[in-house]
Amino acid sequence: MSNDKMTATSELICGLQFEMFPVERPSPREIVDAALAHNPVAIFAMLSGGDGSLGTTHWCMNNIPGCEVLHINTGIGIERTRMFVRETCKQQGWPLTELRAKEDCGQDYDEIVSEHGFPGPAGHQFMYARLKERAVELIVRQRKTNRSDKVMLLTGICHDDSVRRSGYGGREVNFKGAQMWVNPMYWVGQSFIYHHLRASGLPRNPVAVELGMSGECLCGAFANKGELAIVRRVCPTTAARIENLQSRISNRHPWGWEERPPRERDTKTIEMFSPMCVNCLKSERLDA
Ligand code: SF4
Repeated sequence: MSNDKMTATSELICGLQFEMFPVERPSPREIVDAALAHNPVAIFAMLSGGDGSLGTTHWCMNNIPGCEVLHINTGIGIERTRMFVRETCKQQGWPLTELRAKEDCGQDYDEIVSEHGFPGPAGHQFMYARLKERAVELIVRQRKTNRSDKVMLLTGICHDDSVRRSGYGGREVNFKGAQMWVNPMYWVGQSFIYHHLRASGLPRNPVAVELGMSGECLCGAFANKGELAIVRRVCPTTAARIENLQSRISNRHPWGWEERPPRERDTKTIEMFSPMCVNCLKSERLDA
């Protein structure tokens, strides 16, 4: 795509003509080029299966030579989303790496929750580290050969998504050790991603259409009251699994997936770099 650079437009607002001058903010192409200057040894578009990551991944796969797809399978999510990711990559001819929290990183959601209970917002950092961060660290270890190597990880995060409480102050490019997190859509925003997705002709994930998010990751840290009922509507099997887990652990940890632990730990513990949880961190429940 070469039309991603913002250009000046003339607009009629309340009967008056306005020249809308572009703000000098880097386009997806410029952001990616700046990141590529660091010579990453591997490049991955992070595809969860939600609309934002799908549109961004399509753009990345068609604009960044050598780009591959990375899907993190947290082990607590809707299987149909994983199937959608695998099928989409197969149909598009995109090389896909799927890393599983349980099988590849030894992190079993049911075991973690059986030991500690459901996380609540303050347990988010712990869950993120176990279910997602270890998978990212694994792929970085697999691809790095030198200490100074960087692995580029592309997300669909936009400026409006940035949530300071996630420790994700927000920039187009963020470094964490060998991880180079790049947000090509940072300034063009969600509407550009949706337009790109529609123009691509790619089918959307039916789970994301119904649920409003990928459904791949349901750790429950920011689950609101009523959310389990929504999950049940989209995937009764996943909801039954969570309910089962609730019953199994209720004698030791008497709070549910949608609830907070009774003596919740200091909420300051959630201030961390967690770019793969930005959507959950938008939850109003953070301020509850
Ligand atoms: S994305 Fe949401 S559900 Fe997944 S680990 Fe982060 S907070 Fe939990």
